[in-house]
Amino acid sequence: MRRRTQEVHAGREDLAALGVHAPPLDLSTTYPLPDAAAGTASIDALASGQLPTGSPVYARLHNPTVGRFEQGLAALEGAQAAVAFGSGMAALTAVLLASKGAGDHVIAVRPLYGGSDHLLASELMGLRVVWAEPHEIASRVGPSTALVLIETPANPTLALVDIAQVVADAGDVPVLVDSTFATPVLQRPLAHGAAYVLHSATKFLGGHGDVIGGVIACSEARAQPLRQVRIATGALLHPLAGYLLHRGLQTLGLRVRAAQSNAQELAARLAAHPAVHAVHYPSGPLLERQMDGPGSLIAFRVQDAAQARFVMGQLGLITPAVSLGSVDTLIQHPAGLTHRIVSEQGRAAGQVVGGLLRLSVGIEDPEDLWADLDQALRPLSGAAAAK
Ligand SMILES: *Cc1c(COP(=O)(O)O)cnc(C)c1O
Repeated sequence: MRRRTQEVHAGREDLAALGVHAPPLDLSTTYPLPDAAAGTASIDALASGQLPTGSPVYARLHNPTVGRFEQGLAALEGAQAAVAFGSGMAALTAVLLASKGAGDHVIAVRPLYGGSDHLLASELMGLRVVWAEPHEIASRVGPSTALVLIETPANPTLALVDIAQVVADAGDVPVLVDSTFATPVLQRPLAHGAAYVLHSATKFLGGHGDVIGGVIACSEARAQPLRQVRIATGALLHPLAGYLLHRGLQTLGLRVRAAQSNAQELAARLAAHPAVHAVHYPSGPLLERQMDGPGSLIAFRVQDAAQARFVMGQLGLITPAVSLGSVDTLIQHPAGLTHRIVSEQGRAAGQVVGGLLRLSVGIEDPEDLWADLDQALRPLSGAAAAK
């Protein structure tokens, strides 16, 4: 199947045989086990991180509705498997816990999503973090490196990192790519050699701002320890969330392309606006090599934090709120909100400056979005005229 067909059909292969058209939403917490021996066989498979041989036994171990979303996402990423979690942070936590046996530290490139930066910096999972620029990875990797972690395009600056180069520099160490901003529509990190792809499914995969979830796409061998962590820690995705995310995949390509087309237009207009000091929107040879398009997130700089806060307060149609990847347009102030939890030094390293705003462009009419942005920025133009 080609990609656009996969988006609509993947993870639905068993439905016709079940005599249904939409995936059943299975809310069972437990499953009848009249054949106790079969139940034991299934629980043995689940405990070793495999899929159940028959009954899911108990909902913390496996859920078929979530399983269909996982199959669908795995197909879109070109992965053997996907493992879904209750949030993007739970998904990252599971990879860190599963990686502990392989070393004592993680190498990570800033900027990262504020919560990911915080989780690594806090060393809560018992792994140290070594911050590095992409070109420093080769010299930092050693036998006790458990994982290399990058985000591309990065939150919130849209900086791109060369996945294939990082994979080459990491050698035998697995590379995790947080591909939340790109979605599998625009970027498939496993094809560039990454070991794990992480999505905050809360964002584009759900796409309507009404579900929290996370997912890792990877090989079946890497999926098994992640399922074991999920069972042990209970970091599971609720079946209703799994249902909504699976449905979200059906319109993912349409939504991503429509929002991207709006973002291309708005990025060009922002770049020409007198109040805007700089626009960060992916472009150039790495974009051509690694992605199928720049996406629908734009970061742009006004003079300082006071101006950024002013713009957020002036908007009418565009919602001033964190999160991203919804059908409606959101704007937020990273230094004061999503990246507030990051150390000052970490923000500086990631170029998360006070005047930066992050715009998640939706699928509305771009003229309405521009009218709203322009009226919010216009009062700053006088002040910025001498820029
Ligand atoms: C939101 C986000 C996360 C965290 O995901 P949650 O679903 O909020 O836990 C991780 N990475 C990126 C790039 C994000 O935008």
